[in-house]
Amino acid sequence: MNKEQVRTLIQWMDARHNTELNSIRVGSNQVSRRGSVTYYHYAGDMNMSVSAYEGAGSFRGIVNSGIIITILHEFAHAILMKEGYIHHGHGRRWVNKFSQLILDDYKELVRVYNIIACDNLSECFGYMLFSMEERNYDYDQGTALMQLAIEQGRVDYIEEAQRLI
Ligand SMILES: [Zn+2]
Repeated sequence: MNKEQVRTLIQWMDARHNTELNSIRVGSNQVSRRGSVTYYHYAGDMNMSVSAYEGAGSFRGIVNSGIIITILHEFAHAILMKEGYIHHGHGRRWVNKFSQLILDDYKELVRVYNIIACDNLSECFGYMLFSMEERNYDYDQGTALMQLAIEQGRVDYIEEAQRLI
């Protein structure tokens, strides 16, 4: 995914969640540091940084899905910071917010990406989980996602996630 595509997806999320980002920085090929959010609470100044990188061959889809997951990861931080939880780390509160964003926004972001990039990245949650596994898949995260999906009656998630197994 190129820098402009990453920027467009971040802008789309920013508008959807009223995070009012002050700056968006899109780096290139910084796989070691995929993204970050800094918030200067007193100034109300929030900055997001996400790396764009291109995958090759059969890894291209997994890379693009991974960038979308990174964007959702950083927005879970940004939204919590706006809600006043400045130092929340990756605890339960963050896991729940991230899970909710995956259920609500993952497919939407894939659709926006496919339109702007003329691509055909799979919207399937099973594929998303597969791409998460390629990164450092966290068992607790998977469990939290499934619990939330069950609580909210998200049959789409449950069916597609089970197809992975
Ligand atoms: Zn994080």
